[in-house]
Amino acid sequence: MSATEARRSARPNRTLGPGHDTFWEWCARGELRLPRCTGCGKLLWPVASACDHCGGGAFTWERQSGRARLVGWNVFAQSYFKGVLETPYTTILVELEDGPLFVANPVGFGEADMAPGLALELRFVPARDQAGDFDLPVFALAEM
Ligand SMILES: [Zn+2]
Repeated sequence: MSATEARRSARPNRTLGPGHDTFWEWCARGELRLPRCTGCGKLLWPVASACDHCGGGAFTWERQSGRARLVGWNVFAQSYFKGVLETPYTTILVELEDGPLFVANPVGFGEADMAPGLALELRFVPARDQAGDFDLPVFALAEM
């Protein structure tokens, strides 16, 4: 195992398949991209096979700024992923600058630092699941 592999943390399995694979391919390049419907222009999240506004099925993948605001958070004490995620772990809900709500994990800060509206910015951390290595989007405190 290389040093890089040793730093990859085990994660619950990602959802893979059409659309999802494209999302993870962009993450591997260090970019958070979400699908924008070519029919009506709505930015969509989560990945879907059809636009929830107009029903269209064609998308372009638009790079997000990576800036976000904290909306809410939850500290999980119950282990839903035994052997993969140690408890307690924290999940955050952020509003991306471009609009969509996005669920992620915080990195470099904890519950004591959290407040609604807190300015955050995107990072990627090396991770792996049963399908292999990937780069997980997470959020850190925005640098002022
Ligand atoms: Zn649409």
